[in-house]
Parts: sequence; C-alpha cells; structure tokens
Amino acid sequence: MPTQVLPTPEEFTNFTTRVVRLGFRGFLFNRPTLRPKEGESSAKFPRTPTAKKGRELGFFFRSKDPENQYVVFIWTTWLIREQRARDQDAGWVLIVGNGKRLYVTEIRRTKYFLERVLEKSGIAQTRVIGRQRCPLCKNLMEIKWGRALGQRYWTCQNVDEHPDHLPQHESWDVALSDEQRAIVERIRRRRRQRRKRLRKEGKSHQPARLRRRTWEERTRG
Ligand SMILES: [Zn+2]
Repeated sequence: MPTQVLPTPEEFTNFTTRVVRLGFRGFLFNRPTLRPKEGESSAKFPRTPTAKKGRELGFFFRSKDPENQYVVFIWTTWLIREQRARDQDAGWVLIVGNGKRLYVTEIRRTKYFLERVLEKSGIAQTRVIGRQRCPLCKNLMEIKWGRALGQRYWTCQNVDEHPDHLPQHESWDVALSDEQRAIVERIRRRRRQRRKRLRKEGKSHQPARLRRRTWEERTRG
C-alpha cells in the first residue's frame, strides 16, 4: 500500500480555490450514522458526533441546462471545524442522477491526493456538461454500465421514438478533451496493471465500490 499523505490546511485552501474556480460549490455534511433496529439495544450504538464536529466539506456541480439533472459530487474527507482530514477513508468523485450513483471513483489519500481529486472532478464535470443528446430523438442520453467490469457508456433507450426501434449508444469519453483523455488512459493503464499484479498474487480484484465506513464501524477501533 502506498503511504498515506494527508493534505495540510494550506493545501486544502488552495484546492478549494481551484475547485470553486471550476464552478463547484461547497456544502457541509455529516457522515451517515447507524441507528438501532427495532428490538436492538441502543447500547452498542455509540452516540454520533456533535453536529458541528465531524462535519466534512464537500463540493457539487450542476450543469446550467435545467433538463440535465446529473450532479457531480466531491467528497474530500476534510473536516471543516477541525481543519484537518479525517483519519479514515478516501476521497470520492461521484455522478448522481435521479437519486442514483451512476459513476463513482475513489481517490486514495497519497502524495498527489488533491491533484487527483481535481483531475477526476474536472473530468466528471466535463462528462456532465457534455452529456449527449440522442441523435435520433434529441433526448438526453443516460449513463449505463456495460458488461465488462467498470465499463460505462451513454445510451438512449427511447426506442419508440427511433425509426429503427433500436437503442442508441455513445462512447463514455465522447465529451473529453485530448488532455482529459490522456489522464483517463493513464488511470486505466494503471488499473489494468494493478489487476494483473493482484491476479498474479492470487488475490481477487475488487472494483471501487462506494461504501463509507459508518460511525459505528469507525469507532470500533
Ligand atoms: Zn433517442
């Protein structure tokens, strides 16, 4: 595992300036907490942190097109009151639409953590701004998962409005600039290498899944 390197307050301030310049806006949130189910003792559920402590600064971006409801979220692990990164967890960039997580990517907190978050945020933003309209029916296309692990694409399934009654597809990277394509290719190359290495070591590959540790899990020690 690469060494964890947490950002300093200065680095985080610099990151905030840059991400706001991209058009993102900040928001504060508390981590989800576990509540006892019916019949369960509440004793094993530690009390959640106070509202003010433990609040994390995140960012979101919405496109100017009111029809396009996809939103990019950035979770930074930065605790606003404490002015430091959380001990646990990683950064995440998400694209959310209709209440569903359509795209999720994890960024480990190593040396270039905030740079990587910026890169991935900019790329997710370009995908949302550049969300394609179907050439046949002009509706906004949707993000879909392909068969292959982690493979996404744009699709329009309004087949009744298509002369050939077939879905229309578009490449996931269609809106990206050359520079962004190069970044995406670099990330994919590394991911392939990592999978290959894991296979060699006999470990199974786990795709990045969004599962933040709950307060209860984090306090378990
Ligand atoms: Zn269509």
